[in-house]
Amino acid sequence: MALITSEEYLASVRKMKPRVYIGGKWLSNLLENPVTKSMVMANAAVYDLAQDQEYREIMVAASHLTGEPVSRNLHVARSIHDLDMRQEMALLTSQVLGTCNYRCVGCDALNSLASTTWEMDRELGTKYNERFSNWLKTAQSQDLAVSGAITDAKGDRKKRPPQQENRDVYLHLVEKRKDGIVVRGYKVSQSGAIGAHETIVLPGGGLKDDEADFALAFAVQNSSPGLSYICQYNAYSAEREMCGNDIDELGNPVYGQRETSTMVFDNVFIPWERVFLCGETKYAGRIVTRFAKAHRMNCGGACKVGFADLIIGATMLAAEYTGVEKVPHIQEKIIDMVRLSETSHACAIASAMRGREEPKGSGVFLPDDLFGNAAKLNIAHGFWEIIKNAGDIGGGLVVTMPRLKDLEDPEVGPVLQKAFGAAAPAEKRLKVAKFLQHWTSGLHGVGTWHGAGAPQAQRFMFTVLTDFDKKKKMAKKLMGLKEK
Ligand SMILES: Cc1cc2nc3c(=O)[nH]c(=O)nc-3n(C[C@H](O)[C@H](O)[C@H](O)COP(=O)(O)OP(=O)(O)OC[C@H]3O[C@@H](n4cnc5c(N)ncnc54)[C@H](O)[C@@H]3O)c2cc1C
Repeated sequence: MALITSEEYLASVRKMKPRVYIGGKWLSNLLENPVTKSMVMANAAVYDLAQDQEYREIMVAASHLTGEPVSRNLHVARSIHDLDMRQEMALLTSQVLGTCNYRCVGCDALNSLASTTWEMDRELGTKYNERFSNWLKTAQSQDLAVSGAITDAKGDRKKRPPQQENRDVYLHLVEKRKDGIVVRGYKVSQSGAIGAHETIVLPGGGLKDDEADFALAFAVQNSSPGLSYICQYNAYSAEREMCGNDIDELGNPVYGQRETSTMVFDNVFIPWERVFLCGETKYAGRIVTRFAKAHRMNCGGACKVGFADLIIGATMLAAEYTGVEKVPHIQEKIIDMVRLSETSHACAIASAMRGREEPKGSGVFLPDDLFGNAAKLNIAHGFWEIIKNAGDIGGGLVVTMPRLKDLEDPEVGPVLQKAFGAAAPAEKRLKVAKFLQHWTSGLHGVGTWHGAGAPQAQRFMFTVLTDFDKKKKMAKKLMGLKEK
């Protein structure tokens, strides 16, 4: 069965036994804690989308390995159309969830591996691509939720991995055995790894010849011995725990903020059949660059655009509810929000349309780098503007509002109804204000800035990818500036 239902996914989560720590306690089941549950429910909704005929073209693709319909989250792009549908999937899932498609990083990681392992086998005579394809076939046939772990803890940023006082700040090899490898270290900010059946682990950056211990790529099962997850914890986690099942009070009631964890690998054994890079430093940079190409198109140019759509919609409602929707400066600000988000989406579409087979002969299609980086850098800056305008139009209420539940209190409820009734009743105004609070005053600003890499990384890519000499020559030619 290549596509499972959300019920089947939830049943599989109940059977998983990951070591998960959140807010001072270890969990025995992800569904018992309201915060970890919100992450699982987001994944469940993505399984539902794949079952919906309306979204089939976006969410489902034919496996290049078996021809079977499989989740696009596990599909290796084989054409421009695949790339376009991939970015559409990122847009759609964000619009539906208001949080991560927690299978997104894994999808981009497996596309990078499909491309790079093919190249390694041709150049080195290894069997990594065969191994990877076998792993992928199984993942596709079981419709596994796969997350992606790239970001190492990194320690002192001035030092290379082997120079770090504590080697564990970069995931590294401990031992090679006949049947597999043993690894240890930390991968941080891992979206949805707790609720994924497996995580694909890639190196965090390019590596030098003497850094072979850090050149690792593999797939690790969720509840592998020695693997623990320490969840993020913040005011939104506390608020959700406080509300318990009374989730209507929350900004994004079912799916929550964006749940990440630190993955702690304490001598975790990985069998050879799940290892896709081990020591070949030359390919670490290529794996990361190809991952980043895919992820910047999807995360920057589509996922955050889906978020922006939700913010724009809610901001318009806020304006209507206070009666300012026709005021010129309000309309101008909303148009600016649309301009910023659609420009990023245009970059994602361009990135897909200019995508190409890489490397030639591999059959794997990757998006265009320059447009992908433009998508990400544009939205990194644009998102702050978008939430600024949402806060402007939403008014101070976005951060000063009382509890929604207070509207029901026999004593203060009637007062609040009168105080906050405007062009719409207080309930509607407060509900929208709470939703906007989730976006403007939560984790999404910094999340958008850093997700898919800090903006300095995209600026660096611009310097590498842009032919500045060509631009100078064009200008000189037109102005008639003669070289001596
Ligand atoms: C919400 C969210 C979800 C995420 N999900 C995932 C995920 O699922 N999987 C995953 O692998 N990662 C994930 N990440 C991690 C993300 O990719 C990183 O946050 C990002 O790459 C930045 O790395 P960092 O957080 O370690 O920040 P840092 O690298 O510490 O960056 C902080 C600042 O220091 C600068 N800096 C850092 N090092 C140097 C240097 N050597 N030289 C010059 N300047 C430097 C940066 O440019 C930046 O300005 C997620 C992040 C967020 C916020």
